[in-house]
Formats: sequence, C-alpha cells, structure tokens
Amino acid sequence: MKPSPVSRRQFIKSATAASLVSYGSLSGQVLADPSQGVAGKNWAESFTYGAARFHQPETIDELRKLVRRSRRVKALGGRHSFSRIADTEADMIGTSQFNQLIELDTKNRTVSVGAGMKYGDLAERLHKAGFALHNLASLPHIQVGGSIATATHGSGDGNGNLATQVRGLEWVTAEGELTRLNRGDPNFEGAVVHLGALGLITHVTLDILPAFDVRQYVYIGLSPDQLQANFDAIFSSAYSVSVFTDWQQDPGLTTIWLKHKVSGKAFKAPTELFGAQRAARHVHPIVNYDAEVSTPQMGVVGPWFRRLPHFLMEFRPSTAAELQSEFFVARKHAVAVIGELHGLRRELAEVLQISEIRTVKGDDLWMSSAYGENQVAFHFTWIKDWLRVQAVLTLVEEKLAPLGARPHWGKLTTMGPEVLRARYPKLPEFRQLAAQLDPTGKFHNDYLEKYVFG
Ligand SMILES: Cc1cc2nc3c(=O)[nH]c(=O)nc-3n(C[C@H](O)[C@H](O)[C@H](O)COP(=O)(O)OP(=O)(O)OC[C@H]3O[C@@H](n4cnc5c(N)ncnc54)[C@H](O)[C@@H]3O)c2cc1C
Repeated sequence: MKPSPVSRRQFIKSATAASLVSYGSLSGQVLADPSQGVAGKNWAESFTYGAARFHQPETIDELRKLVRRSRRVKALGGRHSFSRIADTEADMIGTSQFNQLIELDTKNRTVSVGAGMKYGDLAERLHKAGFALHNLASLPHIQVGGSIATATHGSGDGNGNLATQVRGLEWVTAEGELTRLNRGDPNFEGAVVHLGALGLITHVTLDILPAFDVRQYVYIGLSPDQLQANFDAIFSSAYSVSVFTDWQQDPGLTTIWLKHKVSGKAFKAPTELFGAQRAARHVHPIVNYDAEVSTPQMGVVGPWFRRLPHFLMEFRPSTAAELQSEFFVARKHAVAVIGELHGLRRELAEVLQISEIRTVKGDDLWMSSAYGENQVAFHFTWIKDWLRVQAVLTLVEEKLAPLGARPHWGKLTTMGPEVLRARYPKLPEFRQLAAQLDPTGKFHNDYLEKYVFG
C-alpha cells in the first residue's frame, strides 16, 4: 500500500534524526497523488507548487541549516497568493509551524510573533490581553510573514497596509545567519515588503494599540453616479470602508460596507447613504451569497478582529471558486478609474464575480503598492477560468496603465515586467539590497526574476 501524504510525512519525520521533513529528496515517489506535487496547491487550487522538495523544519536552527545547504529556496506562507510569488522548482519551506507569540511588550506597545502566525490567531490572543492591530485584510487566515511580503492591505483613509504595522523583522540570510532590522535602521523600509526575496523571515514585531470595538453596517444599492460624485464622502464616512460592485448599471450588487470604531458617543446609523439603503439582514460581499461566512453587520458591536475583516476565521472565505487581481491607483485618479471600469461593464459581466474598492494610506516602504502616496485599490474576484479572465484583465490593464496602476504582488496580472518595474521608483534600491543580502540569488524564483530582477 502506498503511504498517504500525511502518513508518509509522519514516517519520514520519525525516521530522520534531524527531524527535517524533506520528502521528495528522500524518495522518488512520495505522494499518493503526484498531481498534488510535494508541496500541494495554492489556496485557490489554481496551480500546483513546482517544488522538488518540501521541508517543515521545527526549529530555527534546522531552518538555518536547510537554507545554508540549499542552492535555491523559497518560503511558503498561508498559500493565499494567486501569483506564483512563493513558487520554486527547488526547496520549499513551509512556515506555518513558526506560529508562536514570542513577546507582548505592553510598555512599548509591540508584539513579536513567529512569521507563520495567522492574523486570526494573533488577533484573538491580542484581544484577550486588551490590545489590537490597527487593521486587518478581508480575511484573517493569512500569515504575518506572507502578508507583509506582498503589502497585503485592508481599508480606511487613515490606515496603511499591514506591512506598516511592522516595527522590526528577523530573518535567516542566504548564508544561514540570523539578522534583524528595526524601524529607524538603514534599509528597514526596503526590507518590510520583502517579496520573499531577502531571506526566510522568522520573527516579526508589530505595533499594537488598545483593543477597540467596531460596528459594521452595509448599505445596498449604490448607483454608479453616486459613487463617482461622492467618492471622498463615502470613503471618509467610517474608520474602514469598502465598496463592492459588479460595475453594472443596476446597482443591486453595489454595496457600501462601513466599519465604525465604537466610541463613547451616542451613534445612530442613517437608514440611507447616498441613495443606498441600510441592509436589514447580514450579507455576503456578493449580496445573494450565504452570509454565514461574513463578519456580523447591522451595527452589532463586536471586537475589532471580528469586524475589520469581511470573513470569519472559522469559515472558508470568499467564494467557492475564484481567481483574483487587484490594482492600486493614486487617489487622485480614483474617479477616472471608476469611469473606465463602468465603460468595460459588458466585458466584465462575462468573467467577474465581484469587485471591491478600498482606500489605503500612502507609506514609505519601498516595494509597497502604497509607496509614496495615498492609493485606491481596485480588486477583482474573477470566475475560475484563466483563459476567459485573461482577455478581460488585459482590457482592464490597458485602461489603468496610463494612470500608473500597480498590480498586487500576490494576485494575477498580464502586465509586462518592464511596465510593472517602472511603477516602483525604489526598485533599483530594492534590487541592490537583495543583491547584498543574497548575492547568488538563492531566494529567487521565476516570478521574481521576471518582475523584479530581470
Ligand atoms: C480569499 C482571499 C482574500 C484575500 N484578501 C486580501 C485582502 O483583503 N487584501 C490583500 O491585500 N490581499 C488579499 N488577498 C491576497 C493575500 O493576502 C496575499 O496574497 C498574501 O500575500 C497571502 O499571504 P500568505 O500567508 O498566504 O502567503 P503566501 O501566499 O504563501 O506567500 C506570499 C509570499 O510571501 C513569502 N513568504 C511567506 N512566508 C515567508 C517567510 N516566513 N519568509 C520569507 N518569505 C515568506 C512567499 O515566499 C511569497 O513570496 C486575499 C487572498 C485570498 C485567497
């Protein structure tokens, strides 16, 4: 009988003195289903990782040895990227076991965690201790190290992306040494949105703030005209705001999600907002989907980590089958982008499940999609059919290109590498930093060589 992946892994684990789980290198045939690859698939199951060997070291020393020995190596986070940014044909290192809360420093308002910790797990621990993070993405399932790598973000005019929470980070270099940078150190701004290109991140120190509660309301039926005419007013109307839309003329699927911080003051939510009506039931970002997976709405007060994301930790987020793309455009161009996307509504109707519009505060992190100025993020949840999606995505990118759109590092794009590279003014400095830290390109992969180092 062939061993199942799990039993095979357990077998190798118990059989190797160093407890390096390195199946693939130890045996030519390691999985019952070879189409799953030794490292399995990404979250969307849109591709199988191409790694020859998959390792899950249990200690930092084992991790250091592995990195030292490997010629080419990549870390795998929570598998939620749609791009192949985490992929490799060589050694892949799973990091979800590095998920400890290392230190909660209440005096300096920081928390240090293993890079493999999921935001959802961290949030619960922080909240119990009376603390919070300033923001979260739409889902809490993603890992800290993997999320800051791609400048993952939530929403809010005053909220930077999740990488802006980073006060310090520690990683294993190409030589297998441990190194650390803290905010204020030279090159810190270059290392935070690391794209997985600088080393294996082991620990991340994040800013925290006192825990807070949030009330969430959804308004259904925002018209395209109201969205364009009142863009700033809509996005400044709560701590975190999202607009979901299918870009069609009938505003049935266009909703405003408001996440208000609860303060001591009395609060009464209006029944109507720019023509959209306050929902009288909990909804999913796609209004006619089952709302069970969504964070509670209708003004029910709850802790920050059960309201800031759209999806609850205990459910699979989003839709059953999807691909995603997202583009960041300087805020001054937001209304123009909305006009362009309405112009493509017939083409979008063929392949789009839903779009989300969010605002992200500008930052100074070199490879951040919000580098330099405030951005508006235009997200697309596509049907899971790349050939059909690709044709429409190209049209979207053509419209957004003159406005300097930057694609999300973890999502899908058809943009040429030279176009993408030109969108990041600090890319030459990032390449220099990577070359200093990793002169042989140990942490490169096809994705990075195409878009960053090519
Ligand atoms: C349903 C869904 C909803 C999403 N919502 C949002 C959203 O609201 N906002 C948003 O911005 N994005 C969103 N995303 C995209 C997602 O947040 C990003 O792709 C994120 O990078 C995924 O993190 P991960 O932990 O899954 O890392 P992975 O996808 O596994 O890896 C991402 C990158 O990080 C590197 N990496 C991971 N861990 C380490 C480590 N320890 N050391 C070095 N490198 C490492 C990998 O090599 C890779 O380069 C969503 C994705 C899905 C599937």
